[in-house]
Amino acid sequence: MTNKPNTEETKMEKIVSLTKRRGFVYPSSEIYGGVSGVYDYGHYGILLKENIKNLWLKSMIQMRDDIYGLDSAIFMHAQAWVASGHVDGFNDPQVDCKNCKARFRADHILEDHGINADKMPIEFINEKLDELRKAKKLKCSNCGSTDLTPAKTFSLMVKSNFGSPVDTITDENVMYLRPETCGGIYLEYKNTLDTLHPKLPFGIAQVGKAFRNEIAARQFIFRTREFEQMEMQYFHDPKDTKELYEMWKQIRWNWYIENGIPKEKLRFFKHEKLAHYASEAFDIEYNFGFFGDSFKEVEGIHARGDWDLSQHSKFSGVTLDYYDEETKKRFIPHILETSAGLARMMLMFLDNAYTEDLSGEEPRVYLKLPPNLAPVKVAVFPLLKNKPELVAKAKEIFNFLRQDFMCEFDDNGNIGKRYRRQDEIGTPYCVTVDFDTIEKGAGVTVRDRDTGKQERVKIEELTKYMEGAIT
Ligand code: ATP
Repeated sequence: MTNKPNTEETKMEKIVSLTKRRGFVYPSSEIYGGVSGVYDYGHYGILLKENIKNLWLKSMIQMRDDIYGLDSAIFMHAQAWVASGHVDGFNDPQVDCKNCKARFRADHILEDHGINADKMPIEFINEKLDELRKAKKLKCSNCGSTDLTPAKTFSLMVKSNFGSPVDTITDENVMYLRPETCGGIYLEYKNTLDTLHPKLPFGIAQVGKAFRNEIAARQFIFRTREFEQMEMQYFHDPKDTKELYEMWKQIRWNWYIENGIPKEKLRFFKHEKLAHYASEAFDIEYNFGFFGDSFKEVEGIHARGDWDLSQHSKFSGVTLDYYDEETKKRFIPHILETSAGLARMMLMFLDNAYTEDLSGEEPRVYLKLPPNLAPVKVAVFPLLKNKPELVAKAKEIFNFLRQDFMCEFDDNGNIGKRYRRQDEIGTPYCVTVDFDTIEKGAGVTVRDRDTGKQERVKIEELTKYMEGAIT
């Protein structure tokens, strides 16, 4: 196992390799050859993911008076996806290479040629593909063949046989695995209103799994077929849409900055082509270094009008309106949504944190994660494994620190190797018990991940020290 940065590898390859080697992310079902576009998260992966999720939940729920939490089921009534337009319209344009059988999203092929085809009709896409074909610019990025099919629409909905024997599944009774988490939020608007009695504007937030039959899921955890979303739907009076939309754009932008993403690596992307019910759609994009310096969507912020509640009201026959006691008016609230992918965000934080320090004698790699996001906050080491008094003291310190912080005890290998390992998982502080700790009562050394500097801290002050350092 080497920590030396390999100059031949791309940043993406380095991160994929680090996350596998250090137990963050594994390809799913690897011993059977894997499942394309599906990943498992190991020990450090779940800790990092959980920290990001909790940060989001804190900002959305704990720090706000007007947003409520929800955990709605993955399986929903089949009609809900007909009402939302997903059954008929949740498609992407697919192109196949006739030579190597690789599949591509046609809008992504066009994007690579500088043509924005996001949400464009299939006729437009095929027209543009033909132009590229005639100009001999249309090639399979996998094998180089020019023999690519025209684009056809491909449904992203994942079907199941939930609740029915397999042979009787029809278009009417098929159950889908939800393609986005917000669907469940719309269906719980009424229960939230009836039980918690919020006044407009109010929001419902949830984090959960979503499933999409992505045409091409080959960008590690950036695009997968099973993933988690963090979504918030903000119900409001339509007269306030403009003002609230700007407010949410700002709140979400600030969240990234507050959590250590430099503003130069972020930008807003305005969607020109909107769904017929939408009045505004922006994405927050992050410049992923490992995609060759390109901005990619991490979150969407959309003004969805009253489409969702109107459609569910129409299809379910249940009124989903709101009575405003001040104006004595009944109306269907409009919705603003903020929608982010958890794994995509994790990849953003990993990309931003990945650092190679080549200045010292030995090059080192570390994840410069904000301490509050780091999977492990403090690692505790005895200087030597074979000195029982050092090991006992280090265990004692580990056992009291772990009450307050995610900690790790390590007495394997030499101390330099232990530091390197913690650097690669992004642990901000390493505490070492040495002979001066025991013999002189000189406290412990605390090493800072980013500077590599060490300072001595009294044992009785360690908890306070860490509280101050890990915000
Ligand atoms: P894209 O254009 O990348 O396919 P989208 O516009 O379809 O994304 P939304 O439906 O708006 O995405 O979903 C909201 C968020 O969910 C995205 O910003 C992204 O972070 C995340 N997301 C969407 N699809 C995936 C996926 N297949 N894998 C991982 N995250 C995803």
